[in-house]
Amino acid sequence: MSASVLIIDDSVTVREQIIRSLESSGLFTRYYEAEDGLEGLKKLISSPVDIILCDLEMPRIDGFKFLSMLKARPDLQNVPVLILTGINNRDQKIKGLERGASDYITKPFDPEELVARVKVHLKIKKLQDELKRSNELLLELSNTDHLTGLFNRRYMMEALNKEVQRSLRKGGNLSLIILDIDHFKLVNDEFGHLQGDVVLQKVAMLLQKELRNYDCAARYGGEEFVAILPDSSLEEAVFVANRIRLAVQDARFNGTIAKLSLTVSLGVSCFSTGQTTTVDGFIKMADDALYRAKAHGRNRVEFQDTEISSPPKTCTASPTLNSTEPQ
Ligand code: GH3
Ligand code: MG
Ligand code: MG
Ligand code: MG
Repeated sequence: MSASVLIIDDSVTVREQIIRSLESSGLFTRYYEAEDGLEGLKKLISSPVDIILCDLEMPRIDGFKFLSMLKARPDLQNVPVLILTGINNRDQKIKGLERGASDYITKPFDPEELVARVKVHLKIKKLQDELKRSNELLLELSNTDHLTGLFNRRYMMEALNKEVQRSLRKGGNLSLIILDIDHFKLVNDEFGHLQGDVVLQKVAMLLQKELRNYDCAARYGGEEFVAILPDSSLEEAVFVANRIRLAVQDARFNGTIAKLSLTVSLGVSCFSTGQTTTVDGFIKMADDALYRAKAHGRNRVEFQDTEISSPPKTCTASPTLNSTEPQ
């Protein structure tokens, strides 16, 4: 194990004593020292450690103040702090533990007991870190579609709900694109399910590439994808949808599917036009538009029925806003 420790004490003699005791244990490869809480905090920020041994009585920032400052920082609050002090007072012990210290040891300390206690707290810290990592991984897995790496439907619905609530509260644009691969069943039938999966991955990658960082791309189901576009008007979202459509149309594949020419149909809706106040209504408008794109021949972008009649300026180089002709 290559752990590191920070020793905060205003007495250089005590710091040396502590280091000598710990060195015999072979627990640490790095030792950092500070003579008060402020210097300790600065050292921690530049070199995170696994455990802290901290005195109580020190000039400037004492042990209690140091604990309060440490616990206020989310990035540092989980580092265990062992108070090592000459004050053998019940109330002070309780105060230290209540402020977040993991243990309270009085000086003069027994070197072997110190090492034993440090070992216990390092072990607890290691288990806590492992638990935190597993939880993060679980959260990531529960939000992610395993095939494409995009967000899954569950996460997408949560994100959409939040964006809709935000839009209802604060106004501002919010648009939605639903994409469905055209005749995808034929891809599976002709090239097999595995190659079908490769195609899904490619479409996911192209979709993500055409979106901004703060847009949310998700796999909605089988061969359907969704993009949530905050701060995008209907015109802007239609423009993006067309870009996605063209990117898929121009995509080239390798191997057995090299000859495949793939297209997608897309439906677009905009929450901010006020035609609906619910998430379901918002999705339905995009879904209905997608249905029309399929009915009108596929490889098209259609959008919700709206009063908007003039095509957006940004769209002039690409097919018209009302419908997108197959090329
Ligand atoms: P349309 O143009 O009307 O959308 O036709 P389509 O063939 O794309 O639509 P349909 O709904 O008939 O077929 C969708 C197909 O997607 C059927 C299903 O087997 C396939 N599919 C769903 N999920 C997966 C998957 O994870 N991998 C693969 N390879 N295929 C999938
Ligand atoms: Mg002191
Ligand atoms: Mg479908
Ligand atoms: Mg399809």
